[in-house]
Amino acid sequence: LSERLSGVLDRLTRQGSLSEDDVKTALREVRVALLEADVSLPVARSFIKRVEKEATGQAVTKSVTPGQQVVKIVHDALIDTLRGEGDPGALKIDNPPAPILMVGLQGSGKTTTTAKLAKRLTHRDGKRVLMASLDTNRPAAMEQLAILGRQIGVDTLPIVKGEDPVQIARRAKTQASLGGYDVYMLDTAGRLHIDAELIAQAAAVRDVANPRETLLVVDGLTGQDAVNVATEFDDKIGVTGVVLTRMDGDGRGGAALSMRAITGKPIRFVGLGEKMDAIETFEAERIAGRILGMGDIVSLVEKAQETLEAEQAERMMRRMQKGQFNMNDLRGQLEQMQKMGGMEGLMGMMPGMGKMAKQVQEAGFDDKVIARQIALIQSMTKKERANPALLQASRKKRIAAGAGQEVSDLNKLLKMHRQMADMMKKLGKKGGRNMLKQALG
Ligand code: GDP
Ligand code: MG
Repeated sequence: LSERLSGVLDRLTRQGSLSEDDVKTALREVRVALLEADVSLPVARSFIKRVEKEATGQAVTKSVTPGQQVVKIVHDALIDTLRGEGDPGALKIDNPPAPILMVGLQGSGKTTTTAKLAKRLTHRDGKRVLMASLDTNRPAAMEQLAILGRQIGVDTLPIVKGEDPVQIARRAKTQASLGGYDVYMLDTAGRLHIDAELIAQAAAVRDVANPRETLLVVDGLTGQDAVNVATEFDDKIGVTGVVLTRMDGDGRGGAALSMRAITGKPIRFVGLGEKMDAIETFEAERIAGRILGMGDIVSLVEKAQETLEAEQAERMMRRMQKGQFNMNDLRGQLEQMQKMGGMEGLMGMMPGMGKMAKQVQEAGFDDKVIARQIALIQSMTKKERANPALLQASRKKRIAAGAGQEVSDLNKLLKMHRQMADMMKKLGKKGGRNMLKQALG
């Protein structure tokens, strides 16, 4: 008996929505995970707060626990924070020769990353690249870049003794123009810590080269410190993106989250080793999984959600074939549409519905409209949803008022429902099963 009872309780907590307690409990563990991943304390704190607000009240997917559901929500929020706009790997290199300035602390991986990116631009994108070392502090540093250049088959600016970084930058610019290069990369000197001289030098080089991209190279293992470095460089020099190196190590990469959250700068690439191919375009999903370290739970919840959607689609198809299509079905469809990028997206995928998709588009059928329609359906009673034929004038008035809309809005919804019901019947008869299956993915 006790087993059965606990089974019931379990089911009770599993269904419905996330309570404040569910969320708080789960987030305690998440907080530990973030701190262990080296996310800075204030960032972890504000991130947790944000998710707490977002998660409370959200629905729990069948067959997962509230804790698991929260982990999934955290995971998605992490991705959302980590991801910048556009393709992180697309460097702005139109208008040749395009200068790319590499900045960062000593030992962060600037020289290595310069060569890695040069190799990528040359061999993958077919660009002509010139690399120049501006590291006059250590003679070996210039030689290091020259050796890498020979290794990857990319030209380096000849070394001239006695020049300062600004003079080298000028020469690189001239050489890049005269030599017909698409890109020239300036690998600057770093220091162990940020100081005024380092910043002044980088700023002087920036003013000469006017870089299209200024990439800050940061050791992904440095955690907290990385944020201060990034803030300082961005304030003083202005960076267009961050490269996180040493992500091949054991670190969980929490610096990525801290940096994104505090500087707002996009992370563009990650370094994954010392070899010249060991660089990849930044992928938010991957780093999110690594920071949270709860990949199993995330995929479990995703699977449960997929299963549930498949079940819903299956149920829908069965109803269609029977020629049933009530307001609950319509609501399910509308919610699906919201998820799949609106009505156009869905109908565009269904054969024979291109014309209707166009009408829908012309009618200005966007996400806001869908949300208003769902509100109307929510305002109906259970009976009315199951049987829309019940809707006479007085009921219509009540429903429209309940959703804060006009009866004419409701009439539009009802018309759409009728049209869709007709269509569904036809599709159901014509063996639209496979078609719908395809459309719903
Ligand atoms: P710089 O002083 O900023 O120019 O740093 P370097 O490019 O000279 O790199 C310092 C050291 O870090 C070298 O031994 C590199 O091979 C190594 N390194 C750079 N990037 C990575 C990376 O992504 N992973 C690993 N494991 N080592 C790296
Ligand atoms: Mg260097």
